[in-house]
Amino acid sequence: MGSSKKSAKQDKTGTPTALSELLRAPLGPVDLSALDAAATPGYPGKGKEDAPAHTQALGPVLSDLQEQLFANGRSAPESAPRVLVVLQGMDTSGKGGVVRHVMGLVDPQGIALTSFKVPTPIERKHHYLWRIRRALPGPGMIGVFDRSQYEDVLVVRVENLVPPEVWGRRYDEINAFEAKVAEQGTRIVKCFLHVSSGEQKERLAARLDDPTKYWKYNPGDVDVRAKWPAYQQAYEVALEQCNTEVAPWYVIPSDRKWYRNWAVAELLRETMAGMGLDWPAAEFDVAAERKRVAAS
Ligand code: AMP
Ligand code: MG
Repeated sequence: MGSSKKSAKQDKTGTPTALSELLRAPLGPVDLSALDAAATPGYPGKGKEDAPAHTQALGPVLSDLQEQLFANGRSAPESAPRVLVVLQGMDTSGKGGVVRHVMGLVDPQGIALTSFKVPTPIERKHHYLWRIRRALPGPGMIGVFDRSQYEDVLVVRVENLVPPEVWGRRYDEINAFEAKVAEQGTRIVKCFLHVSSGEQKERLAARLDDPTKYWKYNPGDVDVRAKWPAYQQAYEVALEQCNTEVAPWYVIPSDRKWYRNWAVAELLRETMAGMGLDWPAAEFDVAAERKRVAAS
């Protein structure tokens, strides 16, 4: 990650480099083994001890941005922007943790969360993007995908669920689909929660050591884990093939949960701050309404 300084990178004027620049997946071939899952790029504090406070401090800012987005959705649904956060990562990488700790910072009314599982018999009857389209965020909403269209080039590719010529076409299809979604007014932020194999092993073992975590454990996760290199390779290809300007991939080092939560919160804040959101103007005569309220 360039400079060995632990604090946020700065340019010559002392302005910290945007986190979206630090975490953007490299353009071109991606080698995940070269990206440190325990790194903490851009983190402005000391570490684990002050991270919850740093993440919490983003809450009010993020909450205001989300409320502006929502307000625009209410006042001008046809033209209101939307946000879509895609969360992908191996088991235990913390997709659920991000939903709880980051999306939990804003009003739940403004969040539309969808978790994509093994396709149901009905979903299976349709094109793989059918269920994705139906879950896209409406005007003023922040859509959050816990897994996504990418499963159709990840698990599907590794497990040979369809022939290679079928999944092979999907990268271009997904790019075209995302470009259309972006063009229709949705800001797309794709986060790959990058966890190391060693850390995943510890997290799986921890689930078995704690009866309150049994519900998170799925014996099948160990079979997926056995195919770690194939999954990493499938992720590398998806990150390389689908890292467009309108739907960029970010690699979030996720071995440290405290960094992961802060990074996704800050990335979302940065993204939304760059959308030029504003409060919608009144569609009524404010002075006249003030008089009417006073007289009532
Ligand atoms: P979890 O996110 O732990 O609840 O697990 C959901 C499971 O659904 C994971 O094993 C995914 O790989 C699987 N899954 C999600 N989408 C698809 C898909 N399109 N085809 C096959 N399996 C999928
Ligand atoms: Mg799971």
